[in-house]
Amino acid sequence: MNFDVTILGCGAATPTQRLRPTAQVVSVRDHYFLLDCGEGTQIQLRQYGIKMQRIEVIFISHLHGDHIYGLIGLLSTFSLLGRTADLTIVGPPELQEWLALTFRISDTYLSFPLHFIETNKSSEWIWENDFLKVKSIPVKHRMACNAYLFVEKPLERKIVKSFIPHYRLTLDELLVLKKDKPIHREDGKVIEPNEVCSPRQQVRKYFFCTDTLPLKLEDEDLIGIDLLYHEATFLEDHVKRAKETHHSTARQAAEVALFYQARKLILGHFSARYPDLCAFELEAGSVFPQVECAQEGTKYSIEIIESR
Ligand SMILES: [Zn+2]
Ligand SMILES: [Zn+2]
Repeated sequence: MNFDVTILGCGAATPTQRLRPTAQVVSVRDHYFLLDCGEGTQIQLRQYGIKMQRIEVIFISHLHGDHIYGLIGLLSTFSLLGRTADLTIVGPPELQEWLALTFRISDTYLSFPLHFIETNKSSEWIWENDFLKVKSIPVKHRMACNAYLFVEKPLERKIVKSFIPHYRLTLDELLVLKKDKPIHREDGKVIEPNEVCSPRQQVRKYFFCTDTLPLKLEDEDLIGIDLLYHEATFLEDHVKRAKETHHSTARQAAEVALFYQARKLILGHFSARYPDLCAFELEAGSVFPQVECAQEGTKYSIEIIESR
């Protein structure tokens, strides 16, 4: 029941020897999702031993080159390797246009079905499967840009076996309790799920929020996120530049983490002007101590906390 985030790139603007542009893999219950696809993403996937053909959905935040210039190459490689499994891309409407034009000009034909889901100007649950749902949330950048919130769906509740004969629970009643609903019997007795079920499993949440001015959104789904990846392109020494370019500083990212009551903050999208990233942790840490600078190749796991 894993829920992991592996950083493939955490630099801003251009690829350098030190940092690659934005890309990361989210793996939930052994299913793989790609978030953004900066130049060189397919090399990073190979470098860190991630089976790229297992990626099911690619979520793109916006159309700046440092978030999409790896996508054409990656899709082309999928095809050259003979992929037949469907792939879904979630992103801004113009993305489909850009891909279609490039594939036409370069005479590229994909070996697999490609599906598009277009993001909109308002927040919405944009994709889901049996165990996971993803919300696209518009943020404030120089062009249309979306953050993505990954929320695990709750598992069915487990009934403590000894209570089945004790309460003489029928099969229909068990099904109701597993869905976390109370039973109302004809004699007026109410059996609450908490009386007969083991503790409710925590619903794990990951929020990917990059290329934006700092925003404190009034969205209750964001409160109590387990892991927040937030861009911190600059330090406070360039707060003016951050505002001009619609980016955030490390301190501002920390204030956002505090506002959402996040459990942990990962900073990324660092400007190449900073050779040493220690200052990012120091600046953000004075506001929000559970902070780390993203490191390429590092996997951040969200563990289940039963008692929360
Ligand atoms: Zn960027
Ligand atoms: Zn951007």
